[in-house]
Formats: sequence, C-alpha cells, structure tokens
Amino acid sequence: MCAELRPWCAEVRKRALVLAASLLVAVGPAFAADLVCEGVDARVRYDSADLVIDARLACQAARAAADFLGDHGFDVRPSIEIAIDNEACKHQHDRVLGIFSGREEEVIVMSQDACRRALANGTLFGLPFDAELYRSLVAHEVAHAIAAANFAVNHPSRLAHEYIAYVVQLATMAPRHRDRILARAKVHAYTSFSEMSETYHSLSPADFAVKVYGHFLAATDRIAVLRAVLAGRLSRSSVRN
Ligand SMILES: [Zn+2]
Repeated sequence: MCAELRPWCAEVRKRALVLAASLLVAVGPAFAADLVCEGVDARVRYDSADLVIDARLACQAARAAADFLGDHGFDVRPSIEIAIDNEACKHQHDRVLGIFSGREEEVIVMSQDACRRALANGTLFGLPFDAELYRSLVAHEVAHAIAAANFAVNHPSRLAHEYIAYVVQLATMAPRHRDRILARAKVHAYTSFSEMSETYHSLSPADFAVKVYGHFLAATDRIAVLRAVLAGRLSRSSVRN
C-alpha cells in the first residue's frame, strides 16, 4: 500500500491511472457512427470521430451525384450506402482509393488522409489532393452505385461504368478545380464511343476522364448519350485499343 506522504506513491498512482485509462481505450467499445445525409437518401458509416468531416463531404458528394444523374434521366437508387473504411480498400490493389461493391450494394472509400498518403506525390488529376478532390472521388464512386441500378444490360462494360463515373466526377466538381484540370490537360476529347479504350483508361485514368468529359460536353443531347451508355452502346467489343 502507498502512503500519501511518500512522493513515489503519487508517481505510482499516477502511472496506474494512465495505464487504466489506456486499457479503457484499448478494450473499450469501438467507435461507430452513421451520418444520415440531408437532401439525398444516403448514409455514411465511419469508425472514428476524426472522420466526421470526411463523412460530411461524402454526403455532399452523394447529393451532387444523385442530383446530376437525376437531372439526366437516371432513377436514383432508393438509398445510397457509403462506408469510410481504409482497411476494406487496402484489400484491393494498390491504386484503389474507393470502390463500389455491387454485391454489398455499398460504396467504400478511404479517408481523406489515407487517400492523400496513397496517392503518388499526394496529387489527383495533377492537383494537390484536398477536400474538394476527395468529394469528387466519392461522387465518382456514388455514380457507379447509381449507374449499376440503371443499366439496361446485364453485364455493362467497365468502360460504360467509368464513362458515367468520370462525367459525374468532373461535372459535379467545383469549377475552380475542374477548370485547372482541363486547362493543364494535354489530350483532346473523344469524338466517338469507338475511340474509347479500357487499356487507355487503365494506363492514364486522369486523361481518360478529361477525354470522356469532353465527349459528353460536346454532345448535342447529353441525356441521349448517357442513355446510350446505359443501353450497352459503349461495350468492350466496340473498342479499338
Ligand atoms: Zn470508377
């Protein structure tokens, strides 16, 4: 037993309290929260109080993607589920910052900090990764989720999925960021579906994004273009690599 007047007793007691507190953190209940988004039927699951800002950005992304696709004739899914989960993304290959899991019907994205660490030079589209680019990345994945429920074909091509996702990502991005990305791009817009290539997308996704966005912008009937993508017109078999 420690006597109150001995200085080392106070030290022992202090260390015991610190140890007890750290044990409480270690074995205490894991943090888990759901953010129900405003203005869109979506929910963001996250597992650290530090991620509440990322969760709010994810909600903004879901709303922007749903509004854009809804305005372009898509049925917006009844509910969009998003999880901020670094571990789940790590199980994918190196370059994955987010995925849409069709089986789970869930969008899974890394946290903003984890994305920044994972990106080469901390940049996306050649710009320093920031909250706006994080929001655009989530919008891309949410677009995959909404598109999956709207395809008129059973097995849409990866190109078809990515066309819609990148159009949504750039169309819903803050103009200040989008203008910088388009200004620094050294590629021209695709002029037809037949020019689009999975190989090119894999090798240079940022340039692919700019090229499909240019194709979309140039269309006289943009809703018809997206409808054609949903109908399977942009298929693997139409590709000339
Ligand atoms: Zn994608």
